[in-house]
Amino acid sequence: MSVQTYTCGHCHFQFNRGVTTCQGCLGTVVWGATPKEKHEAGLFGAIVGAGVGGVLMFGLPAALNKYLSMDVAMGFGLGLGALAVIAVLAGIGYVKGSLSAEKQHRGECRTFR
Ligand SMILES: [Zn+2]
Repeated sequence: MSVQTYTCGHCHFQFNRGVTTCQGCLGTVVWGATPKEKHEAGLFGAIVGAGVGGVLMFGLPAALNKYLSMDVAMGFGLGLGALAVIAVLAGIGYVKGSLSAEKQHRGECRTFR
């Protein structure tokens, strides 16, 4: 069984999978996405989710009323509940965003100094 080694992007030192510090340059080795990358992608997802929620709860009734002459209440009459729906969609967006960052950086190994 051969052990796959990885090369440090800073000093080209070879190390095994799973190490957290490069022995060559003492940089921090990160496997996959960093917490910051996951958080930033999550925030982006949350904004998208909230935007979708806003369109769904407020844009859709407005469009139905305007183009189909319907009488739908803003937020489907849920009042503050409409904001809760938007918050839930934002939460889903956050999770999806951070998972996509994880997927994007899966198998990656980078050294930070
Ligand atoms: Zn190194």
